[in-house]
Amino acid sequence: MREIWDYIVIGAGPAGSVFCAKAAASLRILRLDGSFRGEKPCGGLLAPQAAEAIASLGWTMPTKVLADPQVFAVRTMDLQAEIVQSYPRSYLNMRRPAFDAWLRGMAGSGVTTIRARATGLRQEADGWAVEFRCPDGSVDTARGRAIVGADGAGSLVRRAVAPGRDILRYTAIQQWFPLEGVAPLYACVFHRPTSESCSWLFTKDGQIAFGGAFAPKGARENFEEQKRLLRERYGFPLAQALRTEACAVYRPRRRRDLYMGRAGAYLLGEAAGLISPSSFEGISYALKSGAALADAANAAARRREGEAVQDAREGKPARGGMGNENCAEALGASGSGLVHESVKRNRGAAGMGECETPVQRRRTDEAAQVFAAYRRATAGLRREVLRRRAKRPFMYWPWLRRLVMKSGVQALRRK
Ligand SMILES: Cc1cc2nc3c(=O)[nH]c(=O)nc-3n(C[C@H](O)[C@H](O)[C@H](O)COP(=O)(O)OP(=O)(O)OC[C@H]3O[C@@H](n4cnc5c(N)ncnc54)[C@H](O)[C@@H]3O)c2cc1C
Repeated sequence: MREIWDYIVIGAGPAGSVFCAKAAASLRILRLDGSFRGEKPCGGLLAPQAAEAIASLGWTMPTKVLADPQVFAVRTMDLQAEIVQSYPRSYLNMRRPAFDAWLRGMAGSGVTTIRARATGLRQEADGWAVEFRCPDGSVDTARGRAIVGADGAGSLVRRAVAPGRDILRYTAIQQWFPLEGVAPLYACVFHRPTSESCSWLFTKDGQIAFGGAFAPKGARENFEEQKRLLRERYGFPLAQALRTEACAVYRPRRRRDLYMGRAGAYLLGEAAGLISPSSFEGISYALKSGAALADAANAAARRREGEAVQDAREGKPARGGMGNENCAEALGASGSGLVHESVKRNRGAAGMGECETPVQRRRTDEAAQVFAAYRRATAGLRREVLRRRAKRPFMYWPWLRRLVMKSGVQALRRK
């Protein structure tokens, strides 16, 4: 590809799609959509904070995204202690593929989308080269001033930009079965001998799905063991699987697991480690971080436009920017000169050398400003993820969980 894009977005899940939808008007964006490789396993539950994120985008969600039926209680099952308790929850039961498709469409025609998987990244003097492979096996390279890693758990961008910042990863496995007479439910399943994490069981559109997050070693055997227990002890119809899905899922444990990238290479959603370490709720973080980066990038584009208008009025040559390098070499200064300390730090972190041209320096400053604004705007999300660690003992320490379940605190009382 010859064109040089302002941003290359890798991944068309909720994070990448919201970024594209909000930034399409002010930036030239190429989106690599690797979702053709199959459905991502997901509970498909939209938490209230995700619904709030959609509302704050000013969007309304089409009902075709919703699944049948809506369930407003979560049944918590401790398979080892054989305790079952129900708790009220106000999640929306939705069809995840339809949800992702709806979000992808929100960018309209303002974004160029290629169905392709990014296979390699390379930083160059003026941005990034991204190699990608299309479903027909053809390969190509795209170039952009900035890249956005919206590529979920196992992010290629995260590995390239932050080697050594590995997060604890589980293998999520999920299977779908015919419903066969089970009353609709949403259940969260715990069984310490086979998993230090949790599993889930839910009904959706005439099928029942069982899935769980397991340590990668022995994941399939442990999944099968939990399935057997649910089938034999509780009678769930988990015999003939209609389909099986699997993927990685992150469990952030420390502050350093949450990594937003650096100037010119931004991480969104799960790629940044933004996912609840207790419940694996991650859609709200994906939506909010996508919106935050778009706001930061749009603000930078507006500043640049304002300066261009001012320069034109004063008869100065254009200063150059994301895509406008004409006459920029003539300008011997780096833009407005208002470079914040954090911007200077980020510029260093971006590996920008001393021998940049004025145009490159201006772009570097802009990227650093975007990154500083993005980091500031997502500070609350990072705090929220870390706060959610406090819930883990009540869910994952078997003795404490049993104590809470037996006490009936906050449990539903059926009338
Ligand atoms: C089993 C399971 C159940 C879950 N259930 C829920 C739930 O009920 N509710 C909830 O809120 N959260 C849930 N989550 C978490 C939620 O799915 C994620 O946190 C959320 O999808 C993150 O959004 P994202 O846009 O950051 O990444 P993703 O949704 O993972 O999207 C990443 C996209 O990037 C694409 N991609 C990856 N690599 C490349 C590449 N190299 N090139 C091009 N494209 C690429 C992928 O195909 C995908 O389309 C669940 C997670 C798992 C694993």
